[in-house]
Amino acid sequence: MAKDELMNYEKALEQFEVVIGLEVHVELNTNTKMFCGCRNEFGGEPNTFVCPICLGLPGSLPAVNRKAVESSISIGLALGCQIAPTGRFARKNYFYPDLAKNFQTSQYDEPIAFEGSIDVEVPSGNVFTVAIERAHMEEDAGKLTHVGGATGRIQGAEYSLVDYNRAGVPLVEIVTKPVFGAGAEAPELAAAYVRLIREMVKAMNVSDARMERGNVRCDANVSLRPHGQEKLGTRTETKNVNSLRSIERAVRYEIQRQAAILAKGGSITQETRHWHEDKGATSSGRPKSDADDYRYFPEPDLVPVQPSAELIESLRARLPENPAERRKRLQGEWGFAELEFRDVVNSGLLDQIEETVAAGAKPQSARKWWTGEIARVANAADKDVSDLEISPAHVAELAALVEGGKLNDRLAREVLTFVLAGEGSPSEIVAERGLEVVSDDGALVAAIEAALVGQADVLDAIREGRMQAAGAVIGAVMKAMKGSADAARVRELLIEMANK
Ligand SMILES: [Zn+2]
Repeated sequence: MAKDELMNYEKALEQFEVVIGLEVHVELNTNTKMFCGCRNEFGGEPNTFVCPICLGLPGSLPAVNRKAVESSISIGLALGCQIAPTGRFARKNYFYPDLAKNFQTSQYDEPIAFEGSIDVEVPSGNVFTVAIERAHMEEDAGKLTHVGGATGRIQGAEYSLVDYNRAGVPLVEIVTKPVFGAGAEAPELAAAYVRLIREMVKAMNVSDARMERGNVRCDANVSLRPHGQEKLGTRTETKNVNSLRSIERAVRYEIQRQAAILAKGGSITQETRHWHEDKGATSSGRPKSDADDYRYFPEPDLVPVQPSAELIESLRARLPENPAERRKRLQGEWGFAELEFRDVVNSGLLDQIEETVAAGAKPQSARKWWTGEIARVANAADKDVSDLEISPAHVAELAALVEGGKLNDRLAREVLTFVLAGEGSPSEIVAERGLEVVSDDGALVAAIEAALVGQADVLDAIREGRMQAAGAVIGAVMKAMKGSADAARVRELLIEMANK
């Protein structure tokens, strides 16, 4: 649907109530796959982490990965779920080349975790309780690469390649109940929910939680209904949206698209849809009925999973601080104002700032670097901050150099670009490139005198207290010294010279 055919967002919300539902897949970071001993690792040569089990060869027998079960239980507990004392795996039958077995081993009517809820805070500070229907264990499929087309999609491709390294990697799928009442904040809530799940699984160290690698993937269900109507509207499911920003945009787009169709008396097709980040739009995928027949049946090759009460309790005891408590504690420790802290949370840089403070930086300067210059660089490069070549230790070191007067802000930013280019730590770069602030009076006075040539009236102005006249001179000195001058010292020297 073209942009100008969408309904205005505010108008859509006036006419319709938004209901969302989220399915999040979390890839677990176990050493081995879900049902075999193959390595669970990102980025290997295609089809090198495979065996008869994950290739589904006849006669091979799977065995459940204990660590994956424990991680799944931990996730369930963190979501406030009940843990099933016994649960079976089921075969979900479908025929597609990314799964050599022709069925996915999943859980159907006996998920390991069910009936939970978590509180999710959106950027405005509003908190919504999201009810969790279930969290179940399953295995990932392989990865298809379509070659020869313009878009990398199957349409127009000449041939496709399949890599089974990912086939059999353990997944936990977390499914919410329908979420009502978020109104205009439904897109933000969807993104904040996924961010929270990501934070949780990262803190528990059960997943690498890198969205750009597909460790955390979200399918977003959106439906609209006229205000006051009880019956839910027809929903669409936008698949595999792989960044927080995309989730927010995709939900907003679907609201506006569906509203435009419904307002004209049209009806929504129940289907999966694909999000296109470049176009800022979703497109139609395949029809999806509630009665899709996957011919689920209990997996005959695996015994039921029956976690003992002792195991569940020991996993519960090992859960990290929950994200809401952690935030409260950090805000108190750092002394940040409400809004300031919310910005930090929304930037997703809490971990980095916490580690930078632990490495010795003041909370405010840690905040300033991560949410300012570093986030800007990441944004400009369209990357995640975690993919930049900079560590919390680097940032703490940079802050210390500024605090000790060795670097001014401008030089520090320059040093930062070299750190990001992988040249080493801030101190190493300062030493190697001679980037320290010049506060040596001899060099500064010489530069000031050069800047004053032909401008004798400037000193008169400063003597008379018109300090704005000093600005141009300081600027000229900074420029001549390529930004390495200690600006505060230049200013002092100017005043001294004027009053001689
Ligand atoms: Zn295998």
